[in-house]
Amino acid sequence: MASGILTLDLDAVTRNWTALSRMGDCETGAVVKADGYGTGAAQVARALARAGARSFFVALAHEGAALRRALGAGPSIHVLSGHMAGDADALRDHDLIPMLTGPDQVARHFEALPDHAFGVQLDTGMNRLGLKEAEWQALSDKVLAGKPALALMHLACADEPDHPMNARQLAVFHRMTDGLGLRRTAAATGGILLGKDYHFDLTRPGIGLYGAAPFVAGEPAVRLSLPVIQVRDVTEGETVGYSCGWIAPGSHRIATLAAGYADGIFRSLSGKATLWAGDTPCPLVGRVSMDLITVDVTHLPQVPDRLDLIGPHQTADDLAAVAGTIGYEILTALGPRYERRYSGGAA
Ligand SMILES: *Cc1c(COP(=O)(O)O)cnc(C)c1O
Repeated sequence: MASGILTLDLDAVTRNWTALSRMGDCETGAVVKADGYGTGAAQVARALARAGARSFFVALAHEGAALRRALGAGPSIHVLSGHMAGDADALRDHDLIPMLTGPDQVARHFEALPDHAFGVQLDTGMNRLGLKEAEWQALSDKVLAGKPALALMHLACADEPDHPMNARQLAVFHRMTDGLGLRRTAAATGGILLGKDYHFDLTRPGIGLYGAAPFVAGEPAVRLSLPVIQVRDVTEGETVGYSCGWIAPGSHRIATLAAGYADGIFRSLSGKATLWAGDTPCPLVGRVSMDLITVDVTHLPQVPDRLDLIGPHQTADDLAAVAGTIGYEILTALGPRYERRYSGGAA
């Protein structure tokens, strides 16, 4: 079978998690939403649980249900979209902690699952999710009486350490939560790097587990190798791919690889990306199509079975820079057709 191979180095993930843990004195959790940023939530979470992680976060209740099956009883699993309509059974059956996002969810949760653990999200200025200050004032007595497991805020500009929004949100979080005896979390990867003022009781790194920006000191953990399924020689003036997107300037050897935009290789990378044959760069030529890309391998003495799109010479962040996006989008777009392999992570 000639599918692309996505390899995740679970030891690198664990080392990244440990390095982020050591930046603070608090508990370090792990965010494994969107199937562990496209890499495999079950494998990432199991490796981190073995390394000592006890608190996990996902975006949706059904992601939480799958994660509970992977982890078994014990670790806490928080749902960042809170308690949405229709979620009660999944939250109860899989022992998930909804992070309530607003007054409507507080009402829904207290009505549907009055004795079930929950957390609360507080809006300190991002204006995406969470109770705003006035809503919190009105509801805090009721919420606190239910003994929330966690109070969460999210930073809008944590990847810009000098942005004044960081300190502003921190001050609002203190004003909303100081003296209430709440267990608190404020920092994703970027917030961890801002320093201990932002750490509170628990941090929530996601992207940093993969050694991607903003955790640029981390260790890249992902490799994506794409299979060469055909090689052909073209002569000057022949064209390659849709819209005749590339015209051979002379005699060239073109390799066709089995992955395309349906697999997360953005079409905007047409004519721009570089693949790697070991240490040798090979330019992508012509358009990215749905299932295939074409690569100039004229200069290779031998065409290997696979070329790397993400690997030692090109991180997800490097590829993101070429595509005009961020590493998060590159990773989470990695499609279901790749064979996922895991190295390391043994107990
Ligand atoms: C996605 C997310 C995280 C993880 O963010 P990273 O930047 O990937 O570390 C943490 N908290 C919330 C609320 C999130 O949505």
